[in-house]
Amino acid sequence: MNCFELSTFRQQFPLLSIQVHQKPLIYFDNAATTQKPQSVIDTYQQYYSSYNANVHRASHALSASATEAFELARLKVKRFINSKSIEEIIWTKGTTEGFNLIAQTWGISQLQSGDVIVLSYSEHHANIVPWQMLAKKTGAVIKILPLTSEGKIDENSLDKVITTATRIVSVAHVSNVLGRINPIKKIIERAKAVGAITIIDGAQAIAHQRIDVQALGCDFYLFSAHKMFGPTGIGVLYGRKELLNSMPPYQGGGEMIKKVSFFEETTFNDLPFKFEPGTPNIAGVLSFSTAIDFLQQHLGDEMLNYENQLLDYCFKRLSEIKALKFVISGKPDIPLFSFTVLGHHNHDIAAALDSFGIAVRSGHHCAMPLMSYLKISGCLRVSLTAYNTVEEVDFFVESLDEILTDDYSDKVHEQAMDVNNELGQAENNIISLFKKVKGWDGKHREIMMLGKTLIRLPKEKRTDQSLISGCESLAWLTCYKDTNRQYIFSADSDAKVIRGLLVIILAAFDHKTAEQIIDFDTDAYFQDLGLMQHLSPSRGNGVYAIVAKIRAMVDLLG
Ligand code: PLP
Repeated sequence: MNCFELSTFRQQFPLLSIQVHQKPLIYFDNAATTQKPQSVIDTYQQYYSSYNANVHRASHALSASATEAFELARLKVKRFINSKSIEEIIWTKGTTEGFNLIAQTWGISQLQSGDVIVLSYSEHHANIVPWQMLAKKTGAVIKILPLTSEGKIDENSLDKVITTATRIVSVAHVSNVLGRINPIKKIIERAKAVGAITIIDGAQAIAHQRIDVQALGCDFYLFSAHKMFGPTGIGVLYGRKELLNSMPPYQGGGEMIKKVSFFEETTFNDLPFKFEPGTPNIAGVLSFSTAIDFLQQHLGDEMLNYENQLLDYCFKRLSEIKALKFVISGKPDIPLFSFTVLGHHNHDIAAALDSFGIAVRSGHHCAMPLMSYLKISGCLRVSLTAYNTVEEVDFFVESLDEILTDDYSDKVHEQAMDVNNELGQAENNIISLFKKVKGWDGKHREIMMLGKTLIRLPKEKRTDQSLISGCESLAWLTCYKDTNRQYIFSADSDAKVIRGLLVIILAAFDHKTAEQIIDFDTDAYFQDLGLMQHLSPSRGNGVYAIVAKIRAMVDLLG
């Protein structure tokens, strides 16, 4: 019997009560990974502190306990998705590994030149790249199912795209960008009619609906524990037993064998072990088991109804923001919203929201072909789950409103200085400016203000040569050496926040000699500014990518 009560549910996630940039965290990046309840965290710790031992191998008590708990987890997954037997549940690192396993085993052993693999335009890279690699090896070709104007795989295209040449149909149950439930039953039926196997990417569906693999009738269903309140590094490949039995193993090693000999043919273990070489992620499996208990306790009509209310409310509030443009029309099926904001770079909005303590995602969301299909370079994604609240949605919408008012980005700081004119002093000026500003939101504003002082690069200078790779957004850098052997830089970016960071970085490197540039202690500089700990890893890496580009240019000019 499951039950759902918001505050009791939410209280179980310790991370939801932390502060980020001195603001209560609002975590709206659940499609990337969900937070973990205390019980899952405890299981992880308990395994290592109470019964850490390898599974399946030894005949001592600890190993027996670990093995029992490990195999019980498999049974729980079997029941959770209603597969026929535990032999059909294979542990993987996650959804991505599931695709690679099928491509490298069933795919390599079955596909021939000219065979067709059918995907859709809304797939995650995990469900594209393994097939491209397979196609390259085998000569198979990839065909793509189009989407309706509402972002679902178009049922009307099934007969045309899925034909007797099709051997594999691999599609997402729910797109990680569009949040739409695809008509997978119809897709599976059509694939079966032409004798193709079906692989369903369940990464985004698994935490938002009940899954019954037998009722769906698919051959494979893949998902990751970390998107359903479980740990990272563990996932499930459900496969129909007959198919799994017919497939060669994926990787070789211990556990996946029956008998190994130098003189006779090595024989492989029975399912599911045939696909599980080496010591598995035991702590991951056990805490995943607790996550399933947790989800099973709550995943019922009440929780799904609550998620739907949240979805409706968030959709209504977002629809009120004039500058906001959803990437596809209509309401999504799970509480996941993707949009752009007119006149603003996605990364700028995400960074500004971060300064309010709100975690959202921006970029291509590992779905570059979908971005091209939608004719956008990227978008913002807000993804909610059952521990999020209406109040959080309100605060998020109000914060977004504030960011979008000119007032926010134009708030003039008293210290506004022309850092570019104070040669040699620029980095000290920046440091003293940032020392006066308290809190990440203030610093973020300063970065945005500094971005405005950057003189834009003319279009013809924004070339592949000047492009800085490793930056989350597009950024360019050019440079020449003057008669004093000093290097003069110009830079630009499509994101305001990166333009601000460029001003900060150039303040330290512009008008300096090669020796000064090489010797400059970037870490100490960012430490002094109090910035490094606030920059996202990708933006942090972007900062280093800019510095690396500066040094590479200096090296090139000699
Ligand atoms: N498929 C979809 C739809 C996803 O959203 C994701 C992750 O975001 C993946 C596959 C890959 O999952 P993982 O990184 O856990 O392997």
